[in-house]
Amino acid sequence: MSASYPNLLNPLDLGFTTLRNRVMMGSMHTGLEEHPDGFQRMARFFGDRAAGQAGLIVTGGFSPNAAGNLSPLDATLDGKGDGHRLITDAVHQADGKILLQVLHGGRYARRPDAVAPSAIASRINPITPRPLEGDEILQTIEDFAICAQHARDAGYDGVEIMGSEGYLITQFISTRTNQREDEWGGSFENRIRFPIEVMRRTREVCGKDFIILYRLSVLDLVEGGLSWDETVQLAQALEAAGATMFNSGVGWHEALIPTIMHSVPRGAFTWATARLMGKVGVPIIASNRINNPDQAEALITAGDADMVSMARPFLADADIVAKTIAGQADQINTCIGCNQGCLDYIFKGKVCTCLVNPRACYETEFEVTPSESTKKVAVVGAGPGGLSYAITAAERGHDVTVYEASDRIGGQFNMAMAIPGKEDYGETIRYWGSQIERFGITVKLNQRATVNDLQAAKFDDVILATGVTPRRLDLPGADHPSVLSYVDVLQNGAQVGKRVAIIGAGGIGFDVAEFLSHAEGPGDPATPDIDAWLTQWGVDRVSDGGLSPNGPAMTSPRSITLLQRKAQSLGRGLGLTTGWAIRSELNMKGVEMIG
Ligand code: SF4
Repeated sequence: MSASYPNLLNPLDLGFTTLRNRVMMGSMHTGLEEHPDGFQRMARFFGDRAAGQAGLIVTGGFSPNAAGNLSPLDATLDGKGDGHRLITDAVHQADGKILLQVLHGGRYARRPDAVAPSAIASRINPITPRPLEGDEILQTIEDFAICAQHARDAGYDGVEIMGSEGYLITQFISTRTNQREDEWGGSFENRIRFPIEVMRRTREVCGKDFIILYRLSVLDLVEGGLSWDETVQLAQALEAAGATMFNSGVGWHEALIPTIMHSVPRGAFTWATARLMGKVGVPIIASNRINNPDQAEALITAGDADMVSMARPFLADADIVAKTIAGQADQINTCIGCNQGCLDYIFKGKVCTCLVNPRACYETEFEVTPSESTKKVAVVGAGPGGLSYAITAAERGHDVTVYEASDRIGGQFNMAMAIPGKEDYGETIRYWGSQIERFGITVKLNQRATVNDLQAAKFDDVILATGVTPRRLDLPGADHPSVLSYVDVLQNGAQVGKRVAIIGAGGIGFDVAEFLSHAEGPGDPATPDIDAWLTQWGVDRVSDGGLSPNGPAMTSPRSITLLQRKAQSLGRGLGLTTGWAIRSELNMKGVEMIG
C-alpha cells in the first residue's frame, strides 16, 4: 500500500459545501430500511461509517411513492421522515454528510400494480407493468421532488436520484422499455424529458444549497442502450437542470454481464466514467469494483474521476478511510466481491451483512468490548473461523495462541484465491496477518496441536476450528492415478489433462471447473487485464450500450464435464447474485453439465 493519498484525501469543494475527502460510501440496500428497529440500527451503521471518515454517504434506496417500491413491503419516503432524523443526526455528530437515495423501481417492482413507461416486462420480473398515464407521469415527477424535500426536512444534505441500473428513470430513456407515442416517448429529446423534469423540479423545490447527485448510466450493457453521444447529451442536460454531481452506474440489472462480483476485475468499468470527464462542469464519481485506497488514488491522479464510490467496502470495514488517513491501509479489511453476506442475503429477504465482517449491520448487537478478565486461549486451526475468533478474542484482551498444522494461515481461503477471478480472497489473508501482528497473537505454524500440548500449556479455553475434511470418493477406481482431489488440483499443483470430469457440482466443483477452464492461473488483482476480460464478456468501448456486435468470446483449454448426483439443474446452490454469471461463463466455455 502507498504511504500517502494526497488526491484521494483532498477535500472536494461543491461551492455551497465541501466534502472532506473523495471517498463516497455508495448506496446499498441493507434490509434495515424495512426492519422494525431499522432506523436505530441504521443510525449506528451510518454513524460508524461517518466516524470512519467517509467523505459522503448515500443511504439505500427509498421510493418516492408506493408504486415505485421494489416489493410491497419496501421503504418509502412519502411523508414525514421522523426515523430518518436518527440517521442524519448520527452522521452529522461525526461531521459526516449523507444523502438519501430516491429510487423508483418501475418495471423492476415485484408488485401487481407495477408501473413503467410502457407495458413491457423484464426478464428478471414476471410482472408486466401498467403504462403510466400522462398525469401520473407528472405526479411521479412531483413525488420525486417532494421526497427530496422530505429528505431535506429530515436533515439530509442532499439526495441521490437513481437514474441507472434499469430502474424507472432509465426505462423512460431507452427505446427498449419506452415505446410511448406522446411527449414522453419517441425522440431522444422526449425520452430524456422525464429525468430532466425530475432534476429541474427537485432543484426548484429544494433550493440551491442542497446536493443533488444523479446516478447516471455510463454503460447500459443491454440491447437498446444509449450511445456515448446520447449519454453525454443527457449528462449536459441534467447539469443544466441542476445536478450537483454525477455518480456512475454500470449495467441494467437484467444485463447478462456481471458488473460487481469477484470475477469482475478491479476498476473494470472506470474507463466509461473517465470519458465523461471534461464533458460536464460538475464533479464525477467512479464506481464498481473499487476496493482499496491505492486504486482510488491512482484513478483520481490519472484524472479518470473526481471522487470514487465504494459501497460494499464500507460493509467490510467501516474505517476504510480512517485507516487510509492514519497510514494504516495494510489494516483494511478488504471487500472481496463475494456477495455472499450482502447481496445474496438481500435477495433472500434477509438483513445484509458481510462475509469478512459479521458486525456489518449488526453494530448494535455485536459490540467488541474489553473483557473483564484475561484468559489464556488456544485456537486450533488458522482458517477463516479460527482466525476470526482469535482476532476478536485478542482484541478483547485475551492471550491467544493459534496452532496450525500447515505452513501458512488462511485455510481454505488459500485455495479460493487460486481460482482466477477470486484473487481478492488473498486480501483477507493479508488482513488477518496484519491483525495477528497488531494484537500480538502467537501463531504456531507446522504444528498439529495434541492434547498433551494443550494440557501442558494450561489454556483456560480451547477453540477447535479445524475446518473440513474432503469427502472420500466411494467409487470403484477411486484410487486410479488419474483421479485427483480438489486439494491436489488447487493447492498441490497436480497436472491435469485435456479431458476432465469433475464429480460433484457444489461450490467447490464449480470453482474447480473455473480453475481448469482458464489457460492461466490467478493474476495480480492490482493489475488486471481489463481489455481481455471485456472482450471475453462481449463488451466494447464504442458500441451503443457497450455491447460488442461480436458477442462474448470465451474459450477453455480443456474439455470439461461437470457431474452431480441430484437430478436438478447444476449450480442451484451457488450464490443468487453470482451463480448465474459463473454458470453462464462455463456454458460459454463449453463445459458440459450433467445432473
Ligand atoms: Fe464484500 Fe463479500 Fe462482504 Fe459483500 S459479503 S461486502 S461482497 S466481502
